[in-house]
Amino acid sequence: MTTRALKKSTAKPRKPTRAARAKGPGLKARLAKGPGLMARLAKGPVICAEGYVFELERRGYLQAGAFVPEVLIEHPEVVEQLHRDFVHAGSDVTQALTYYVHREKLRVIGREKDLLPMNRMALSIAKKVARETGTLFAGDICNTNIYDPGDKKALKEVDRIFEEQVGWAAEAGVDYIVAETYSWGAEALLALAAIKKYSKVPAVVTVCFHREEQLRDGWSAAEACKRLEDAGADVVGLNCHRGPDTMMPLLKEIRKAVKCHVAALPVPYRTTAEQPSFMSLTDPCCGDARAFPTGLDPFVCTRSEMYDFGREAYALGINYLGICCGAGPHHIRALAEGLGRHPEASKYTADMSRHAFFGTNKKIRKVQTDYRSRL
Ligand SMILES: [Zn+2]
Repeated sequence: MTTRALKKSTAKPRKPTRAARAKGPGLKARLAKGPGLMARLAKGPVICAEGYVFELERRGYLQAGAFVPEVLIEHPEVVEQLHRDFVHAGSDVTQALTYYVHREKLRVIGREKDLLPMNRMALSIAKKVARETGTLFAGDICNTNIYDPGDKKALKEVDRIFEEQVGWAAEAGVDYIVAETYSWGAEALLALAAIKKYSKVPAVVTVCFHREEQLRDGWSAAEACKRLEDAGADVVGLNCHRGPDTMMPLLKEIRKAVKCHVAALPVPYRTTAEQPSFMSLTDPCCGDARAFPTGLDPFVCTRSEMYDFGREAYALGINYLGICCGAGPHHIRALAEGLGRHPEASKYTADMSRHAFFGTNKKIRKVQTDYRSRL
């Protein structure tokens, strides 16, 4: 505890000033859990900011390649701040950063002994932020990278990975669990089965499409999501790999195929019909080199593109909306505003009327506005 915080806590309690009240939710709000995921989805959209791993990589706290969030041990305060940044920007969910904190990924980087501490740390940071901000507290499991339908030993290990991560999330008291980024539909079904067996919370299960419009098992988006719905998933849909333009056609098929809530969390990149996934994008400025993962900057969607994506998806009847790898708080704010929200960060949404050259404000001098066409 800092000296300042210590002083604060021993000071005589006073009635909060208006400024203090405006600063954030009061104690009551902070302790209240509020309605759960399904109740919120029944009333309207739920926004879930993701893409923590990419954002932490950009900030210099995580290595591209393995993409394991070692930052949980080395700089937990950075993870907490990122959660807060996304909530400030409009996320209704604080999702524990347990993506790629599973046995197989830790084996790849030689940190297997940190499996439990890293999972516990991710869950405790997210829980703290969720409970303090009144957002939903989500657990997370993901692609194992060892799933192989013909390898019984690997399948057993996949089950073990799901069982232990779901167990830790359930112990931590998550409000629901996300199972995400499966390019094998059958692996997604195993993840769902684990959520149902080892927890009592709703399951959001999303699969992902690379170049082909079929999963590695050959299932279409509609077929995969229907199978997941039939197996008891509460929300089904797509996350990652595809940008808004190349995810949208698949979402339309899913919305027609299932009755349950649908999730859509694209990457904020301008994927095309020729290069429909962010891993397939090549950059003509650099000898057509593969842009993934650290050369994707020229392909980043603007805020208005994410604003439009949210509106379009919601109009289709898709209530669980978010953005995956590449998302920054500015994207989340735009998505939220597209849905008619006004998160705290909207206080600073652009207002060009005050700009030095482009502004329309009366206080902007003519000497500046006259120069506009020469900028
Ligand atoms: Zn992603």
